[in-house]
Parts: sequence; C-alpha cells; structure tokens
Amino acid sequence: MDEIVERLSAIAILHYERRSHQTHVPTQEEVLCIQEIATQVFRPPTSDASSQPEPPLLLAPSAAFREFEELVWGLNRNMDVYEKHDLLDKAMDEIPIQELHEKAEQLSAQSHKNHSSLAFEDALAEPLVQWFKHTYMRWINSFPCPICSGPTTVIGATPPTPEERVGRANRVELHKCQTPNCGGLHRFPRYNDPAMLMKTREGRCGEWANLFTLFLRAVGLRARYIWNREDHVWNEYFSPTEQRWVHIDSCEAARDKPTLYERGWGKKMSYIFAFSVEGALDVSRGYTLNWPAMEERRNWVPIDELQRVMQSITSTRRASLSSNQRAHLEAEDRVENARLQRGPDWTPSPEQGRQSGSTEWTHRRGEAG
Ligand SMILES: [Zn+2]
Repeated sequence: MDEIVERLSAIAILHYERRSHQTHVPTQEEVLCIQEIATQVFRPPTSDASSQPEPPLLLAPSAAFREFEELVWGLNRNMDVYEKHDLLDKAMDEIPIQELHEKAEQLSAQSHKNHSSLAFEDALAEPLVQWFKHTYMRWINSFPCPICSGPTTVIGATPPTPEERVGRANRVELHKCQTPNCGGLHRFPRYNDPAMLMKTREGRCGEWANLFTLFLRAVGLRARYIWNREDHVWNEYFSPTEQRWVHIDSCEAARDKPTLYERGWGKKMSYIFAFSVEGALDVSRGYTLNWPAMEERRNWVPIDELQRVMQSITSTRRASLSSNQRAHLEAEDRVENARLQRGPDWTPSPEQGRQSGSTEWTHRRGEAG
C-alpha cells in the first residue's frame, strides 16, 4: 500500500504543479498534505463504506488561474457593449465624420504619390486617432482643488456613490488639496460606461481605450480591445487591405507601432491579450522583438491552460455564426498565428518615450524609455 500511496502522491504533485503555477515547486507542507490526501483516497473499503463512491482526487485551481480566468471572461463580456446601436449612434454624433473622411482621402492620395499606398480604412484610422487625442479627450494627471484651485494629490480610493455606479464606476480616486487647512477634495470616478465617457471626455488609458473601441466600431472598423498585464490598454483595428490587425493607441495617437512599448517606453511586458466580438487571442508575441525574454516573464498561468480558456472564449463567441463565417475567421486566425510566430514587423527608427501622462507619473511607472 505504501508504494501505491507514494505513486499516487507523485502523480498528485505533478498535477498540482501544472494546475497551480508553471514554476511552482510544492513546499514540504504541501507535499505532506498531498500524501495525506493520497493515503485517504487509497483507504481500503470497509464493509459499510463499500457502497460509497471514492472521493475524487481533484485539486482546486490555483488563485492565479482563477484570477486569470475571471479577468479574461470579464474583458470578453465587455465587448458586447460596443455593438449596441444606441451607443454607436451617440458616438457618431460626437465624431466629425465628414472632416475625417476628407482627411483620409487626402492622406490616401498623398500615400499613393509616395508609393506607401495607404488604404482608405488605414487612412481613416489615422485622423480618427489624432482627433481623439488632440481635440476630443482630456488626459487626467491631477485636478485643481475645487475650493482654492491649488494643486491636489491622490490620497487613495473610495467606493462609488449610487450616482457614480450608474456610469459603471467601480472605484473612485480621491484627490486632496495640498494647501494647509483647505481640506478641498475632488472625487474622480473611474467610469466604464462609454455613454458616460462621452460626457466626461476625460481619464487615463482605461477610459481612452474603452471609448476608442466604440469610436473605431462607429466609423465601421472591426476593433479589438488590447489588455496588457503591465498596466496598459490600447486597441487594434482590422485593415481589410493589408488583411491584418493593426496596432493603434489613442493615448499616444500612435498607429501601427507595435514596438512602441518595448523599445520606446522600455516596458518589460509579459501578457498581451486581444478581445473582439469574434473571440480572444494571446497576441503577446506580436509586441516583442525579444520573445525569449518575454517568455521568461510569463509565469502567471500554464500556457496550455491559457490557450484552452482563450479558445473556449473564441468558440463561444463564434457559436452563432454560419459555418462559412467561421471558416473565414479560422483562415484569418491561421494567417495571424503565423504572423505572431514571426513577431512584429520592425525597421530601425528612433522610437518615442511615453507622450501621455506627466513626466513625473511616467518616470514613476518606468515608462520614460
Ligand atoms: Zn484647496
């Protein structure tokens, strides 16, 4: 029996390592606990217990895996918001579409002259992102004091009020006046509802990428919301002419610069996920010129489990499509996967440090390049 317990323990430990963390080695205490479970599982049946089923040898998913799964399914659910007709109509009321179309046509015509031939959709994404950053949105570093107009500093977060919850704020930043004895306090609700964001037109990358997803959809482009584990979000749109997803960052008014974060900001990234109404994909490899180094940093969840969850999101998303539509998307997936294996297209050129956010804030985040 001891030998069987030992073999069962070994299997359980292997299983435990796979389920919990790729690089996690169980502690002595965890090994003893697993051996204890194995002993109980192998308990010889007694006459009155023989009809009872054996307890299954299942270990709960690790906290890291649960965190991952909750995050990606949550981000996936958000993608339905950008398909709502009333929201898309509201977005079109905000966007100066005629002006953007004219600029796109000019850009496209110019590009044909210098043989870079920018297709209309790409030429439209360019003025859209420029207008969004430079005319429409306001970046928030801090607020002036509502009493004395002096400088304020963030002192923490607080739960939202019922009114703030209406705009889907889960968290409210508190900015306190720095002037002695003033006591002025400004609440900064971090809204998630694009309708509310079209009213406030302010925030940081979370608010910007959220609303920009809607604006990309509103002008007729297929859009993705891109989530990075190192605290940044941006977008991608599908270029029908180039038949690929193109990086676009509204905070930086940057288009098709996938190496911006790694080379420009000096960011050491690990996981980058793409979400659209057509599914979810791990696109990390498309944003690094040094995959082996990125791979070293990827110890959050085992890769096979990660891919299984992303695939299950994609299958769920595509379940209602026709077999033709599904086959078309699967063909696109194959091209994209091959592209991701190669990494981003890159030609040496000086890349900019971070433009959005104050110098102090950017340095604190280690994103100044
Ligand atoms: Zn004040």
